[in-house]
Amino acid sequence: MSQGAAGNPTVAMIEAAFAHHGLHWRYVNMEITPADLGAAVRGAKAMGFRGFNCSLPHKVAVIEHLDGLGESASVMGAVNCVVRRDDKLIGENTDGKGFLKSLETVTDPRGKSVVLFGAGGASRAIAVELGLAGVRKITVVNRSEARGSELVELLRTKLNLDAELVIWTGDHAVPEGSDIVINGTSIGLYDGDARLAVDTATLTPDMVVADVIFSPPRTRLLRDAGSRGCKTLDGLGMLVNQGIVGVQFWTGIEPDAEVMRKALEKALGL
Ligand code: NDP
Repeated sequence: MSQGAAGNPTVAMIEAAFAHHGLHWRYVNMEITPADLGAAVRGAKAMGFRGFNCSLPHKVAVIEHLDGLGESASVMGAVNCVVRRDDKLIGENTDGKGFLKSLETVTDPRGKSVVLFGAGGASRAIAVELGLAGVRKITVVNRSEARGSELVELLRTKLNLDAELVIWTGDHAVPEGSDIVINGTSIGLYDGDARLAVDTATLTPDMVVADVIFSPPRTRLLRDAGSRGCKTLDGLGMLVNQGIVGVQFWTGIEPDAEVMRKALEKALGL
């Protein structure tokens, strides 16, 4: 149940998976006003929907209309994917799960030290999922103190995690011993030259550097990190993987990642 125009890249990606696996399912985009949210959720349940995605502004408001929450959605207090289980509608959050699935292709997050730029919705989802996956420490680097300390507080109190906030001023030097560096901000979206204020000389080949930005996928940060010898992960992988997790939740099948990535790239004009 997402807002936005038809021709949405997520629709193209999910429907490509259904078609490839011979599933006679549909994933449709519907615009729902905040006032109609409760009625829409009850309608989806009455009509036997296996689930739906929801985007802003419904990610928090949808919770009161659901029958329960998955673990990470409950910790972060935001839902972007609803799944019907035993006739109950359960809220999940697949953004962080998509990130984690990408990350696990290159490293095991357990015991790792993470530097996360940003404290908005995407960063929150990633940080909570990484916390649940057993990282050792998360340093949140954020411009605004309010959002940064809210996320750090959540990680400390709800996940008992070693978390600290660094207010972002000037080029941030990534401390030696950091294992995973993530851009969770919107810097770089539709602008391949946009520069994240990070001292790239502090990036070392033992680090994994990831970006949430999916368009363009080769952000300036990832290009710089690649030239420093780091392993890199793009935001397109995260987006495909959150789609994969959604399809798995709804259908029970493991969809073909390559088919979904190609459909997404085509829809994004990449
Ligand atoms: P929010 O608006 O919730 O948060 C934006 C974050 O970026 C905040 O931490 C904000 O800092 C920071 N920020 C923005 N501009 C600047 C700047 N000029 N300097 C420093 N910090 C800045 O957005 P979301 O978290 O929802 O989304 C972030 C990005 O992630 C988007 O580009 C979105 O497209 C992408 N995304 C990708 C997904 C994927 O699957 N690949 C999934 C979800 C999102 P402050 O708190 O100081 O304002």
